[in-house]
Amino acid sequence: MLHETPSAQLVEVLPQVTAFLKRTHGAFIDGKSVTLSTDRLIDVYNPADGNVISRTIAAKEDDVRLAVSSARRALPVWRDLRPADRERCLFRLSELIEAHGEELAQLESINQGKSINHTRAIDVAGSVEYVRYMAGWATKIEGSTLDLSIPIPPDTRNLGFTLREPVGVVGAIVPWNFPMMIALWKIAPALACGCTIVVKPSEDTPLTALRLAELVIEAGIPPGVVNVVPGYGRDAGAALVEHPDVNKITFTGSTEIGRRIGISALQNMTRFALELGGKNPLIVLSDVDLPQIMPGLMGACFLNQGQVCAAASRLYVHRSIYDRFVADLAGAMKGLKLGPGLDPSADIQPLVSRAHVDRVAALVETAGRTAEIVTGGRRPDRSGFYFEPTLVINADAENPSVRDEIFGPVISVTPIADLEEAVALSNASRNGLAASVWTNDLNSALRGIQALEAGTVWVNSHIPVDPNLPFGGFKQSGIGREHGRQMIEQYTELKSVCIPVPR
Ligand code: NAD
Repeated sequence: MLHETPSAQLVEVLPQVTAFLKRTHGAFIDGKSVTLSTDRLIDVYNPADGNVISRTIAAKEDDVRLAVSSARRALPVWRDLRPADRERCLFRLSELIEAHGEELAQLESINQGKSINHTRAIDVAGSVEYVRYMAGWATKIEGSTLDLSIPIPPDTRNLGFTLREPVGVVGAIVPWNFPMMIALWKIAPALACGCTIVVKPSEDTPLTALRLAELVIEAGIPPGVVNVVPGYGRDAGAALVEHPDVNKITFTGSTEIGRRIGISALQNMTRFALELGGKNPLIVLSDVDLPQIMPGLMGACFLNQGQVCAAASRLYVHRSIYDRFVADLAGAMKGLKLGPGLDPSADIQPLVSRAHVDRVAALVETAGRTAEIVTGGRRPDRSGFYFEPTLVINADAENPSVRDEIFGPVISVTPIADLEEAVALSNASRNGLAASVWTNDLNSALRGIQALEAGTVWVNSHIPVDPNLPFGGFKQSGIGREHGRQMIEQYTELKSVCIPVPR
């Protein structure tokens, strides 16, 4: 059932959130907010009602140039700090994020649209854990010593070792689905490795990154180490990628833009890592206990309204339980309560923007032409960027619900004869970000893990990520891995050293 939310049920907005929204935000460069080369502003919306809630500048090339210069100047200062001091700064930042947790959770919820339960538990609490985890790595960066066989000069043995050095100035381009968390997935490891950074948040959701930049200064991190340039991708984003003084681009977003960024970065041999889209399969075998797994399945598909790169959107379900599965899932979906992010009792919130809800609606309309929509399929009759949770069945491989990353609350369910058929259908995709197998049979689970072409495979679970678990995509879902010790490769250059030692 879809309900309107009485305002009395909404979380009371903190005065500091209201004050932050009232500001017109410049870029955050060299430790302060600056408004420079542009008088163009970007309206920032509340997806729950479609109203403008704040404004930022639309940074252009000159602003980006200034931000990169600031990061370049700060590089020797930050790089040369003792690792333990960098670690301490990052711990202080994690404490400040925790102390300002409710403020950040509200800002994210109001701007992105997602549930306050989600922003408190995932965006804020997850970010605190993440920054702490990465702080610990600052003191654990290491190289190796190598025994070498070089035969010259005579009567000498050559000793080799490797050093890991900060890659330099990082340009980070961030999407709108986890604006603060994904910004920190780039800021925290870059800083742990001794890099400085310029962050370009999504034009739809710039607010928490700008607030974070203020907390960075409060944490004692020198000005210029973290800069934030709010702006459009085609202006500020492209200028950052093309800037010759940026050493590394780390991008999270769509495959289409990621491809463009990779090509552009190569012009300057700028290193790059791409975390891109997914069309993630979820396989349910015949032995599962349906009522028991239903809450996990709903989270897999509808967390953040399906606006999660790893969300499950193609479900392959064993034929023997298919009819009951579709009926139970449709029943659970119809019971979801729709409401704004600040209503803690709502299950489904608005999508991020008017443009995005239009795109989702268009894809669902196309899907419905050749397949059956069991539930949902339309925008509810209320203001804001809402879309009903939508279940599509009898869809062929070319149907958008099976083929395209819709990035909304839209899933397809397809019957399968066995695990092998499910794996073949799962792998018949240009994407390979994530997948899951739901079964109590150990052998099936292991076969699925090995056969699925995906950067992450869960068993009887879907979506949880951990700072210590590498995350990234096979195929067109990306290049590189975030999290874990792999991040050290992302944010450092490897230097080989060779010294002849006379015998
Ligand atoms: P998007 O690709 O449209 O935009 C991402 C960012 O790139 C934004 O900041 C945008 O302004 C910027 N951008 C756009 N054009 C640019 C250009 N020409 N040069 C430089 N920057 C440019 O993606 P989105 O709609 O914001 O986010 C949704 C997408 O992100 C989905 O495809 C989703 O799967 C993906 N995503 C992937 C992961 C992952 O870890 N693999 C995580 C979250 C989201």
